[in-house]
Amino acid sequence: MSKKKVKKLINGKGIRYDGRKLNELRPIKLEVGVLDNADGSAYIEQGKNKILAAVYGPKEVHPKHLAMPDRSLLRCRYHMAPFSVEERKSPAPSRREKELSKVIREAFEPSVFTEYYPRTSIDIVIEVLQADGGTRCAGITAASLALADAGIPMRDLVSACAAGKVEGHLVLDVADLEDKQGEADVPVAYMPNLNAITLLQMDGMLTSEEFEQAINLAVEGCKQIYQLQKEALKAKYVEVKEAKKEDAEQ
Ligand code: UDP
Repeated sequence: MSKKKVKKLINGKGIRYDGRKLNELRPIKLEVGVLDNADGSAYIEQGKNKILAAVYGPKEVHPKHLAMPDRSLLRCRYHMAPFSVEERKSPAPSRREKELSKVIREAFEPSVFTEYYPRTSIDIVIEVLQADGGTRCAGITAASLALADAGIPMRDLVSACAAGKVEGHLVLDVADLEDKQGEADVPVAYMPNLNAITLLQMDGMLTSEEFEQAINLAVEGCKQIYQLQKEALKAKYVEVKEAKKEDAEQ
């Protein structure tokens, strides 16, 4: 990947190359209900990441033999558009995308009440339009809103965020350059009300103390993201309420 190497990612005052403090998230924009033809949908911008999430279901399972008698089949497809990264990516699913699809599905399994909908499927589709590090986490944050938008009952929203180590410092919400030049990346998905982690991965090298600190830092980030998710959901329902009021007045 031809991203320019920045010599120093963190200055002497602990400020990162993009102006953030060590424990600061990138700016986040969330929107719920952005696609008419999906049962639920959401859009996220986190720094330069731009990601759409759509949910279909609960619906009949195809192929039928995959249907389960006691619960819904939760499926996930994480995909990066060819134009989402600096060097054109093949549209065919890569090994990385298959792995991410699996871990993202597993991040939702503890949350979704799949047992409410036997013999059906719930499909989560995550399409990365522009990537700048942390797309699995941003994808989870958006997919969680898309599931809520589809009206699928969940034990809790899932919020996700990575922490990492860059030039010897633990940092929150690792951007692409920090991921490439840094020492470690720890993506975490978290259910804030249940205080439960549903995804935990690590790429790089950390001591066990640093690993624990990185998890705690990522969880703090998830808690901030959870507040933004709640606001985004409320904003959608204010819109629906106002539209209904207008209809009634006409
Ligand atoms: N990336 C890329 N080309 C690829 C895959 C990834 O340029 O084919 C970049 C992209 O910016 C991505 C980052 O590398 O966000 C980090 O990728 P990683 O596999 O760590 O997953 P992520 O941090 O996005 O969850």
